[in-house]
Amino acid sequence: MGFNIVLGGFMSIKRVAESVDSGMWIPADRESVVTFCEAILRIFRDESERKNRQAARLMFLVEKYGVEEFKAAVIKEVESYGRGVKVQDQQPRETDVFERRELLGVHPQKQEGKVRVGVHVPAGRLSQTECRDLADLADKYSAGEIRMTVEQNLIFPNVDEGKVKEMLAEPVLGKGSRMSASPGFIEGNVVSCTGAQFCGLALIETKGNAEALSKKLEDLVTVDRPIRIHWTGCPNSCGQVQVADIGIMGGPARKEIDGKKMAVPGCKIFVGGRIGEDAHLAMEPIASGIPLDEEDLIPTLVDILKKEFGAVDKN
Ligand code: SF4
Repeated sequence: MGFNIVLGGFMSIKRVAESVDSGMWIPADRESVVTFCEAILRIFRDESERKNRQAARLMFLVEKYGVEEFKAAVIKEVESYGRGVKVQDQQPRETDVFERRELLGVHPQKQEGKVRVGVHVPAGRLSQTECRDLADLADKYSAGEIRMTVEQNLIFPNVDEGKVKEMLAEPVLGKGSRMSASPGFIEGNVVSCTGAQFCGLALIETKGNAEALSKKLEDLVTVDRPIRIHWTGCPNSCGQVQVADIGIMGGPARKEIDGKKMAVPGCKIFVGGRIGEDAHLAMEPIASGIPLDEEDLIPTLVDILKKEFGAVDKN
């Protein structure tokens, strides 16, 4: 077992790039992985354009070297550490159909009698009290262990099968709580960057809007699979709108208010990003200048959900 290595994918204001095959493979053991990452980081630290924020990305360094030359430099660096780690040539890609594992909800583990419980954290934000309640939940059911997902949710591993019912009935996962182990296909798959509340670069508020609008959409339509809606407050795309089913990026908008065209918080909308074996970046927005108000944004999103994702009205 091991890993083919892809390098350099990134999102930024100036450029969005897919990662490229590095031509390298490493075994799946800790020493190999740590040594390999250390070698790349050392080269990046000492040779990249770190003073120019827009060019301080690994992709620019890979392009400056050329993929083959970069591969040679990484192998030389790894060998210089003298740890016996061997970087090999890239292995043939997996041809089996890749199906992404569902991370939310209750799922059996390989270990008999154990399950993992995925808990939805709306827009990836927790209050202090919620953090403490979830930590108590982990102490009680998963030996104090919590894992975080890239979708900003939580996994409680190694829960005893016989304790699941009791765990799901805890108030922190109940009706009055923001968290749940069985959210809807829309609200359960929202990702959001920090946004205007704490980020000085943001053009819009993201997390509050992301949570509120996903609930509204969940009330309005039914979908038959998870729909990944990502929010990002500015073109830096920390919320990675280009990989989302639907990506919402903060931007300017104008709206008629009391007979006058006024500047209001708005967004661009991206559709059709994919992750996994068949990954694809949605580079261009399908709509721009959409006001963030529910009366403007909700009908636009419902329309996209129906046309592109087969959503149907709930009532
Ligand atoms: S994408 Fe979000 S978190 Fe990133 S810089 Fe922009 S507003 Fe800030």
